[in-house]
Amino acid sequence: MKAFYYILAVQFLFVVSAYSQDFDFFYFVQQWPGSYCDTEKSCCYPSTGKPEADFGIHGLWPNYNDGSYPSSCDPSSQFDQSQTSSLLKRMRTEWPTLACPSGDGLKFWSHEWEKHGTCSALGQHDYFQTALDLKNQANLLQSLTSAGIEPNGNSYTLESIKDAIKQSVGFTPFVECNDDTSGNSQLYQIYLCVDNSASNLIECPTFPHGKCGSQIEFPSF
Ligand code: 5GP
Ligand code: 5GP
Repeated sequence: MKAFYYILAVQFLFVVSAYSQDFDFFYFVQQWPGSYCDTEKSCCYPSTGKPEADFGIHGLWPNYNDGSYPSSCDPSSQFDQSQTSSLLKRMRTEWPTLACPSGDGLKFWSHEWEKHGTCSALGQHDYFQTALDLKNQANLLQSLTSAGIEPNGNSYTLESIKDAIKQSVGFTPFVECNDDTSGNSQLYQIYLCVDNSASNLIECPTFPHGKCGSQIEFPSF
């Protein structure tokens, strides 16, 4: 009888570990195309045309509270276009690739799925749909412009950028900067945090490292 309960307990633990998410939260990362392009490395517009002047999705990344993260959790799961065909139009506009050489996005989306999506405990369709829906929920460009922070080459303080997003999205973001060709700090990526079931935005348990200048340029695109 004892052995029976032991086996039952082991099976229970196995099932729980197989179905629970082995990470603490997600970073939802959006990139400003003007800043991706305005660097030494430059960029290439997608083969489907120049993206809108809006933040684009970079990825939805499972993360641990200590700052580390799991990656490439299932090498046997390749990106399968057929599972996201109903999302393709939205992915092209809201998750455009800017890397060179020009591509249609498949390489970028495959990379994000294989590196991060396979650790998310979501299926492919849900993983991409969740990210697209989060972008609708957190309209960064509108949050910034309604606070007078516009992509016109002017510079703003880090506090004003964070406050504008906190005001309108409800949560404090992490702002990542890169350098333009003259070495000015510019607004590159914005990180928001999401609970590990991918249902709600949350305050970030941990912020990534990195530093912006005291004045942050917001270039046009
Ligand atoms: P970079 O070194 O350019 O900041 O990041 C390179 C890549 O590493 C990112 O595109 C992303 O895939 C991954 N990465 C960087 N920092 C983090 C992080 O804090 N959390 C997670 N989950 N992934 C990260
Ligand atoms: P991560 O940094 O998430 O590991 O992945 C970034 C990878 O996706 C790099 O290999 C990069 O070349 C490719 N990539 C393709 N398009 C884009 C883009 O528009 N933005 C960024 N950040 N990476 C892209």
